[in-house]
Amino acid sequence: MTASRKPLSDDTARALVLNADPWLSCDDCFEQVDEAVEQLLIGNIPFSAPFKAHLVGCSVCLEEARSLAGLLALDAGLEAAGTLVWFDNAVSA
Ligand SMILES: [Zn+2]
Repeated sequence: MTASRKPLSDDTARALVLNADPWLSCDDCFEQVDEAVEQLLIGNIPFSAPFKAHLVGCSVCLEEARSLAGLLALDAGLEAAGTLVWFDNAVSA
């Protein structure tokens, strides 16, 4: 069987060489995500370095955290679009 190989896209290549230190597993991330997002949105407490590093490198957890941020924003009466911009800034800060 011959599989056709596609060259890596720039984004994929970047994700592979991304510095994911300090390391956090998806399970660890999942355990922290509720509290971390809530503290960011409600307490204005920034994400921890491992949490941010994981979100930058893991699109699954990033999407999870973003949708949680959207829900929390609704609950807290915050404007959703603005909250997500704030969230993205907190991840890349
Ligand atoms: Zn993850």
